[in-house]
Amino acid sequence: MLRCVACGKEYSSKKSRQICRCGEPLEVEHIPGKIASGGTVWKRFRDFFPQEMKETDLRDLHTLSEGETPTIKVDELSEIYDVDLYLKNETVNPTWSFKDRGTVTSLIHASRLGAKTIGTVSTGNMASSVAAYGNRLGSKTVVLVPEDISDRKLEQIAAYDPLILKVAGDYGDLFYESLELSADDPEIYFSNSNSPYRIEGYKTLAFEIIEESSPDFVIIPTSSGGLFRGVMKGLIELKKSGILDKIPTPVSVQAAGCSPIVRAYQGGKKKIERWSEPGTEAGAIANPLPPGGNEVLRKLDEHDGLCTKVSDEEIMDAQNKIASEGIFCQPASAVGVAALKDLRENGSIEKGSEVITIITGSGLKNLRGKFDRQRVKHIDISELKEWYEEES
Ligand SMILES: [Zn+2]
Repeated sequence: MLRCVACGKEYSSKKSRQICRCGEPLEVEHIPGKIASGGTVWKRFRDFFPQEMKETDLRDLHTLSEGETPTIKVDELSEIYDVDLYLKNETVNPTWSFKDRGTVTSLIHASRLGAKTIGTVSTGNMASSVAAYGNRLGSKTVVLVPEDISDRKLEQIAAYDPLILKVAGDYGDLFYESLELSADDPEIYFSNSNSPYRIEGYKTLAFEIIEESSPDFVIIPTSSGGLFRGVMKGLIELKKSGILDKIPTPVSVQAAGCSPIVRAYQGGKKKIERWSEPGTEAGAIANPLPPGGNEVLRKLDEHDGLCTKVSDEEIMDAQNKIASEGIFCQPASAVGVAALKDLRENGSIEKGSEVITIITGSGLKNLRGKFDRQRVKHIDISELKEWYEEES
């Protein structure tokens, strides 16, 4: 059973409906569960997934061994911000972002419904993920992209050889138009951001986080709202099942250049409004009208969460700081660390708190050729010994 997060209207899970008639997202009904011992996160937390997923053997064709990513305590950054900071390293997923967790669950749903073609509306991480898992499943895949997409963005998607359709028209509307197609015809299934079965996959992040740390704060880069919703749903289900005593304070962070959720939150509004002219280096989280935005606001309200934005300068600085701990992430993934300075200074996060942030995707996805060339030294091979003696 699927239920609207806002008005409570119920829908059958036998169709690929993802949005309620009221315009708000649907979510899979919660059933309390127990943790099993051993196996992957999908096995240990099997109880927490909907029936149609429990009946699917998760070791079969659908998986590429997504999830089970490292939770890394970072000492230097902990010292800088006077907190115990952990990074959940999602860059090591099969297509180098957290999206794979939601793709595998949404494709299980798609194949249960008998879909022959899997589609998505995305120009980035989700497109690559859906194309990769579509291949794994043996389905036809179609990726809808805007007409003005750059070749650089298409390259990773094209590697998996899906049908790529450049669509003229409003790209925001395409999200909804494609879901209509999917709702009317079971042969095609659109796995778009914020869909209820993606949320089920993103719950595994909450499960792993709680197994490996005891955070006071969970900082989540926020775009469509899907990741935020998934982590919160996982935490809430653990609490309702008596496994987790207290839900950590959720922190939603957006890039200042496209921050419709933060604007609504700070203005005390219950509904987000479209952000005109997004402009940020953190392109992976630049969604001008996040379909899960209102739900993020509700969840922040219910759980006394925090919501803040960071500038591109802060994001780039944080990306370097994260790299100095050994992880090269994309700019969008650095917003959690970027937000820490202000959150500590204004007292929102107290000294000594345990904090985890999700490093959502790899920096290799956003190579821009903009590194500091001054840092590259040139020497002749005959000077190598001399150089070393000078260095040491
Ligand atoms: Zn509704």
